[in-house]
Amino acid sequence: MRPDIIRKSTDGFRVAPNLLDYQDERRSFSWDLIRAELGVAADGPLNIARLALDRHADGPRAGRTAFRFLPASGEPRSMSFAELARATDRFANVLRALGVAKGDRLYVLAGRVPELYVAVLGALKNGTVVSPLFSAFGPEPIATRIRIGECKVLVTTAELYERKVAAIRDQLPSLQHVLLVGVTEGELPPGTFDLARLMADASDTFAAADTGPEDPALLHFTSGTTGTPKGAIHVHEAALMHFATGRYALDLHPNDIFWCTADPGWVTGMSYGILAPLLHGVTSVVDEADFDAERWYRILQDQLVSVWYTAPTAIRMLMKSGPELRGGYRFPQLRFLASVGEPLNPEAVWWGQEVLGLPIHDNWWQTETGGIMIANLPALDIKPGSMGKPLPGVEALIASRRDDGRVDEVQQNDVVGELALRGRWPSLFRGYLGQEERYRKCFAGELYLTGDLARCDGDGYFWFIGRGDDVIKSAGHLIGPFEVESVLLEHPAVAEAGVIGKPDEMVGEMVKAFVSLKPGFESGEALRRELLGHARKRLGAAVAPKEIAFLPTLPRTRSGKIMRRLLKARELGLPEGDISTLEGGS
Ligand code: AMP
Repeated sequence: MRPDIIRKSTDGFRVAPNLLDYQDERRSFSWDLIRAELGVAADGPLNIARLALDRHADGPRAGRTAFRFLPASGEPRSMSFAELARATDRFANVLRALGVAKGDRLYVLAGRVPELYVAVLGALKNGTVVSPLFSAFGPEPIATRIRIGECKVLVTTAELYERKVAAIRDQLPSLQHVLLVGVTEGELPPGTFDLARLMADASDTFAAADTGPEDPALLHFTSGTTGTPKGAIHVHEAALMHFATGRYALDLHPNDIFWCTADPGWVTGMSYGILAPLLHGVTSVVDEADFDAERWYRILQDQLVSVWYTAPTAIRMLMKSGPELRGGYRFPQLRFLASVGEPLNPEAVWWGQEVLGLPIHDNWWQTETGGIMIANLPALDIKPGSMGKPLPGVEALIASRRDDGRVDEVQQNDVVGELALRGRWPSLFRGYLGQEERYRKCFAGELYLTGDLARCDGDGYFWFIGRGDDVIKSAGHLIGPFEVESVLLEHPAVAEAGVIGKPDEMVGEMVKAFVSLKPGFESGEALRRELLGHARKRLGAAVAPKEIAFLPTLPRTRSGKIMRRLLKARELGLPEGDISTLEGGS
């Protein structure tokens, strides 16, 4: 039997962790100390991209590789801090020439191509707010997010534009400029620019916009149970959190080669795939290709990756690929492994230990927190299955909401309640764009309520129990059931739609939809396929349901809301719980 705990001992580290004494570091930590280290004043100018790039480009690390891009096929391409600083200055000049100003919003929709990284950092230098869209989104999620954020500039590839945006362009009045990557000679779609040409004509020195700590920098969309997606606003000061967590939770050291496998279309890929390693002057590997077990082992080996940040779904896929594949590879440089986004099964923590020679360190955070909050830190013993302990500068607790809306802190160990965080920190979101009420509801006094259910044990380790709402976590990505239901309802045959996350061994949860049909429509295989195809075309592969089932009617509350909880309980053969609000129920 495996023990419940993986013990750490100081002589077991190849490189001494940045955080050795947890209690001591928590006591002495302050954001002012982090500011002093980064050379910023509490109310002085602060630009996240300048801090991440120019600080190094103007110093001894100028020639160090910032990103090593590995294309799906062909030769890797490296960019040093100095090169990236110049390219991003160029991009900022492109924006300025187009009349794109501080506070305007720029979206990126591309795979992990170099131009995306340049655009994100160049826009931030210009004070332009950046919002990433996942490249596997279909036209519907793209259009919704562009409308909510009144996106002014879109950077995308010629291929994605043609496939996903061109047909809906006239429905997006805010979108003034589209800058395309990978344009073939003589084939520029109407109303777009060839980014390479604009870059060639722009100067590579740029006087940065005068951003301050509270100016918006990033807009990350996340999903709720109801209504439209929520655009979480993050400010330039979030850089302090990215830096501090890069130090404590990812243990970044100056000579590391870091690989964050998350796509920058999501918050992890932005905060830790771009900003945190740059803030530390560390080299990052970026793989442009999709997951492939053998390729990943090869990257870990050949790129001499020392710190690896990945996700449970990817780990489970590696586990499934079997030990033979892993057999031929060696990872002498690898020294720290971390994972985020979904519960990490104890099995996976041990797999790391047994197959890669190192345990995997789970950590927890969410779009709204803007940075890692709770983590299995390198010097702390690991309790496999636990998310770890709050970082220095973070106070986590378990809360319970009373019926009258008041919130109490749960004092007892091991009691399940809502995970809450006390106080304010630099990367805490500053609002949901245009949705003040939804934002306000996340707070009770000085507590931020995360919506996740968890417990805390007697040693201060936090354990994830589940989400408090109906939002679906599939392959690490949040999917709002409402968004999927809305698209199904667009189909002429569909009268009602209810969408749930169905537990899945590989991706955590898969999207399953239940529909009832309008009179005159017959359920059957042909219609099921048609609905799957309709949803996939509109929503994209990342969001569309994988299964659709027909029901004569869907269970609703007396107030008319579809009871997803009941659909899920029935699907899983679980007790139906309290159904007193069920329409037609007792
Ligand atoms: P997102 O905002 O897309 O990053 O998703 C955040 C949500 O993912 C959290 O509220 C949790 O429900 C889930 N999550 C993130 N990290 C973990 C983890 N280590 N264990 C369990 N769930 C997690």
